[in-house]
Amino acid sequence: MKLLIVGGVAGGASAAARARRLSEAAEIIMFERGPDVSFANCGLPYYLGGEIAKRESLLVVTPERLRTRFKLDVRTQSSVEAIDRKAKTVRVRDLATGREYIESYDKLLLAPGAAPLKPPIPGIDLPGIFTLRNLQDVDRIKERIDRSLKRAVIVGAGFIGLELAENLVRRGVSTTVVELQDQVLPPLDKEMTTPLAEHLEKQGVELLLGDSAEAFAEAPGGLEIRLKSGRTLAAELVILGVGVRPENRLAVEAGIGVGPRGGIRVNSHLRTDDPDIYAVGDAIEVEDFVLGGPTQVPLAGPANRQGRIAVDHIFGRNTRYRGTQGTAVVGVFGRTAALTGASEKTLKRMKREYRKVYVHPAHHASYYPGAEPFTLKLLFEPDDGRLLGAQAVGGAGVDKRIDILAVAIQAGMTVYDLEEVELAYAPQYGSAKDPINMVGFVAAGLLRGDHPQIDVEAILDATSAPKPFLLDVRTPEEYALGHIPDAMNLPLDELRGRLDELPRDRQIAAYCQVGQRGYLATRILLQSGFRVVNIGGGYKTYRLHRPA
Ligand code: FAD
Repeated sequence: MKLLIVGGVAGGASAAARARRLSEAAEIIMFERGPDVSFANCGLPYYLGGEIAKRESLLVVTPERLRTRFKLDVRTQSSVEAIDRKAKTVRVRDLATGREYIESYDKLLLAPGAAPLKPPIPGIDLPGIFTLRNLQDVDRIKERIDRSLKRAVIVGAGFIGLELAENLVRRGVSTTVVELQDQVLPPLDKEMTTPLAEHLEKQGVELLLGDSAEAFAEAPGGLEIRLKSGRTLAAELVILGVGVRPENRLAVEAGIGVGPRGGIRVNSHLRTDDPDIYAVGDAIEVEDFVLGGPTQVPLAGPANRQGRIAVDHIFGRNTRYRGTQGTAVVGVFGRTAALTGASEKTLKRMKREYRKVYVHPAHHASYYPGAEPFTLKLLFEPDDGRLLGAQAVGGAGVDKRIDILAVAIQAGMTVYDLEEVELAYAPQYGSAKDPINMVGFVAAGLLRGDHPQIDVEAILDATSAPKPFLLDVRTPEEYALGHIPDAMNLPLDELRGRLDELPRDRQIAAYCQVGQRGYLATRILLQSGFRVVNIGGGYKTYRLHRPA
């Protein structure tokens, strides 16, 4: 077997190492255009900020290590320029010498990744405008920061844009983030990003949401960035983090099928429409694990796993890739946001039926010092309660809950299963009723009809009629600190004695701070013959939708 691999980082290097573990006899050649293989692209922003102090730390495995330990033929600075599918060969250019040569294959695996998008904006190629993909990019940006940098603009508030913002601020750079959408982290639902946007602003990051860069021009001391809103920004450095596009040129030129957004089409074995050519990583289209259908999810975990699965299939094992559910996490100035599965906006776009609940628990028992609050949103099927997606934002414990829910989604679990899952507990780690159980209780109670709920959006919808009677069951002190307009305050502990103050001819929408006292009030009122619903997730959820 002669296996050629194009691309030597996440998908490519995983595939190469796996191939050697499966076959000592195979001839395995890995081509990488750049000088490095298997480097930690995910660590690049933290090297800029200084958290990762040494550049060498980013070089997870060197070409020498791959040669000696895995007996791989690693060819860096070697760009694969074309595929001849009939002859089963590739044309390679040695970038150091300019020499071109032909290499034959039995099987070819494409792991060329995705290139940062550079929108066709006037001035986009001016010096001082960067993208970030590899160590050479980071060297160029770092050199500018080390030379003293006062002002930077990041275009795009996605995962990489926000990580960069944190790390530039850490280096004392005054940083503005411009984002086309009206929220940070566009893969998440907007309300879930409210705490993160507030936190970024508190840390000194200027956020310009719902705006976009329209033109760049040279200006004294740096660049001038003209925005769609008409505003003009000045900066010495601009970093574009507006997404990536699959590196599909080789595949397209060889007549291999690609999807509408450019991802190389593969089947469940990660094989392209040529039986001898496989493709993995950011370059491919994958099956959406939750909703079905093709999607593109540029993440390191899927790329690494796909490299392994594709090679297993190449070497005769009947492996299949299950699809990608988009589990991702980001840390920004000590806060964490994470998601898995479908978002509410995707479900809406695809016109899928769903229900949702929010809980606002502490990450471990609240009586134990150091408990940090977070918000967890769960999306599920309205009929059988199958989990569709989850998002969380807050401090500690966010990653753990989203990872649990990622596994639950992959296992096809329902909200009823979440009521039952048994998780490790001691007060410094979790709660006897873990937030995972709690979100299961709330969601299952909703589906069973024990806990009728109304979404905050329905309360905010100015066009909905008739309007429910809003009942705030928190204490007067909490009410005074902020409440939903027109809500009556009647603390939960006084409720049973003051039922005659409530209307019997209108639906009552009760709420508290996070949903729990609202639920108790709902149970009391239901059993006293009132028409009542609880505002899901309480005042905290209202505030996510309507920031103060
Ligand atoms: P890559 O790792 O990009 O590797 C592709 C390689 O192929 C490149 O080195 C390229 O030079 C080479 N190549 C392309 N064409 C050719 C050719 N014709 N000939 C030879 N070589 C070629 N993901 C996460 O899940 N979590 C994170 O925290 C995270 N952080 C990130 C931070 C940054 C700054 C960046 C840039 C990405 C981050 N990602 C993260 C995304 C993650 O790095 C990618 O999803 C992953 O690396 C994709 O792997 P891949 O093998 O498909 O492509």
